[in-house]
Amino acid sequence: MSEISLFAADEEAMYAVGARLAEVSEGCGVIYLHGDLGTGKTTLSRGIVRGLGHQGAVKSPTFTLVEPYELGERWVYHFDLYRLADPEELEFLGIRDYFAGDALCLVEWPQRGAGVLPKADLDITIDAHDGGRRLRLRAQSPRGEAWCMALALPA
Ligand code: ADP
Ligand code: MG
Repeated sequence: MSEISLFAADEEAMYAVGARLAEVSEGCGVIYLHGDLGTGKTTLSRGIVRGLGHQGAVKSPTFTLVEPYELGERWVYHFDLYRLADPEELEFLGIRDYFAGDALCLVEWPQRGAGVLPKADLDITIDAHDGGRRLRLRAQSPRGEAWCMALALPA
């Protein structure tokens, strides 16, 4: 499976990466976002959600666990599982329904939902690097593989 490394020098560059991800994913699939607090998982998610056409605010779902966005025919669900005490809580949240349709699911802190959370198409790990952020994208399914192929081509 493909692995791609990208560098985003600042917040604007992070939004641009998000816009590219919105484009290649066409708003359908599952993306896990790994990285310490403050590395830019929510920033990247904001870039993706806006890239899919959302014009309002994109808040961190730290306290709500999930923020839904209805974008035309599509739904985007942005999760932050940082405060999840037990993966079983996801069952009460009705997690299967969120992942059942052809929505795009973005998940910060996916390791908190291990065992219950559906598998990702793409794993993204972000870390601080040279004043900006390094992003490592790893395909986890044929769909994620296709996204990586598309991202490797010039925009
Ligand atoms: P997380 O969701 O991972 O906890 P946030 O996205 O909430 O992180 O916050 C990340 C912080 O880092 C914000 O202050 C944001 O402006 C900044 N940031 C995001 N992307 C970059 C980047 N590529 N380079 C430098 N700073 C960034
Ligand atoms: Mg966050």
